[in-house]
Amino acid sequence: GSADAEYDLLVLGAGPGGYSAAFRAADLGLKVVLVERYATLGGVCLNVGCIPSKALLHNAAVIDEVRHLAANGIKYPEPEIDIDALRGYKQKVIGKLTGGLAGMAKARKVEVVRGLGQFIDPHHVEVALTSGEGQATTGEKKVLKFKQAIIAAGSRVVKLPFIPEDPRIVDSTGALELREVPKKLLIIGGGIIGLEMGTVYSTLGARLDVVEMMDGLMQGADRDLVKVWQKMNAHRFDNIMLKTKTVAVEARADGIWVTFEGDAAPKEPQRYDMVLVAAGRAPNGKQIGADKAGVAVTDRGFIEVDKQMRTNVPHIFAIGDIVGQPMLAHKAVHEGHVAAENAAGHKAYFDARVIPGVAYTDPEVAWVGVTEDEAKKNGIKIEKSVFPWAASGRAIANGRDEGFTKLIFDAETHRIIGGAMVGTHAGDMLGEICLAIEMGADAVDIGKTIHAHPTLGESIGLAAEVFEGSCTDLP
Ligand code: FAD
Repeated sequence: GSADAEYDLLVLGAGPGGYSAAFRAADLGLKVVLVERYATLGGVCLNVGCIPSKALLHNAAVIDEVRHLAANGIKYPEPEIDIDALRGYKQKVIGKLTGGLAGMAKARKVEVVRGLGQFIDPHHVEVALTSGEGQATTGEKKVLKFKQAIIAAGSRVVKLPFIPEDPRIVDSTGALELREVPKKLLIIGGGIIGLEMGTVYSTLGARLDVVEMMDGLMQGADRDLVKVWQKMNAHRFDNIMLKTKTVAVEARADGIWVTFEGDAAPKEPQRYDMVLVAAGRAPNGKQIGADKAGVAVTDRGFIEVDKQMRTNVPHIFAIGDIVGQPMLAHKAVHEGHVAAENAAGHKAYFDARVIPGVAYTDPEVAWVGVTEDEAKKNGIKIEKSVFPWAASGRAIANGRDEGFTKLIFDAETHRIIGGAMVGTHAGDMLGEICLAIEMGADAVDIGKTIHAHPTLGESIGLAAEVFEGSCTDLP
């Protein structure tokens, strides 16, 4: 290849971090090239992550809701599921969004180069071109010269060494392909991704087992929230194995046989029709030739950055999953904007007070800022207020009053520093708490804000009113 053109900015990876950075930089006047090995833009999130999982979860939630209606006197026959059509729906959703991104790139004159990029020195990336349809390289190479770069190469599924290759053993990407619904599914790893996919398969007819090394599912969320989710979802599971490890997996003709060790381990190996490995994600820091550019990568493959998202090489930035936890799309997007603005000569810092987390299960579990567990661990003095949805008119009318809303205040100033909800639509409502924390709102600000009645979001105002001791008892 040859290095003809010089770009102001090269962005490596077109996930939420990368495309956000590329678009912002182009808007600020930079000449931008975006390098991506996938056929479509959008990275893990749009192609094999956030979006396809939510497309499936939405359908699962509607099926579950219809089943709930039986208790209200409205009975439907069991749904007939055309799995090929459902898969097609999911693909259509992905296509709309990734196609939209391609249009946005074009409109901003962001040049997209399809292929696997590797740094060859601090100002050049060599791209092994792909055909634009799959990830297979064509043998052709192209060298791109840049003044500045943003590394947004994301993360990949962690593979467990003792797990054999077998079509019945899948990771989240394989699970999203939705080839068939097994009778009996084992989920290895009780985090959000595993439980979301488990929800989909269970609603479509699978029985679930889950194995988790820690002492609880959905690590990161306070236990009181998870307890509500677990009670409502107990019917999906045959066995929830906590403090237990998977030690051997054998693919036989009659099924996948799995051996466990630990507190809840059955003595005999267990047989499954399908196994979903959801044991975490690893950053791609070691796969991009970072050393050739002088960019430091940690042993685990993360790239360390400062508040401007600069690596140890000042003209090279890094953003998204590759710079660390939490590995979430909305964090990547904000970091992408910061990096792009700095690359364009502005002064920007990543200074978020909050990075919300949501499990899009049924009910949803959503939390932001300081959690109770964190406060306890770090000796932060807090006061909390909980509003049970059993006192919410809307939740009762919906037949879904199992949830609650929790606000966490600084014990001294009564400013809100954290909050969480478990219940239907919790993720959508969390935004108000995020904004309140960023704005430095206190309990009075939130309590005196008139919320529409009857809404689930009203529970946020009511929790604040309860805290001030002036609850108006408005169910
Ligand atoms: P990625 O999205 O990983 O994108 C990196 C891109 O770089 C990829 O397209 C990759 O092909 C490309 N790339 C890597 N190396 C090279 C190279 N050498 N050359 C060229 N291209 C390269 N997050 C949420 O916030 N909400 C959710 O609901 C959610 N659900 C999820 C569900 C699942 C099943 C999974 C797996 C993840 C989910 N996530 C969710 C996490 C979210 O997908 C990631 O946090 C997000 O995609 C990270 O964005 P990123 O830009 O850092 O990297």
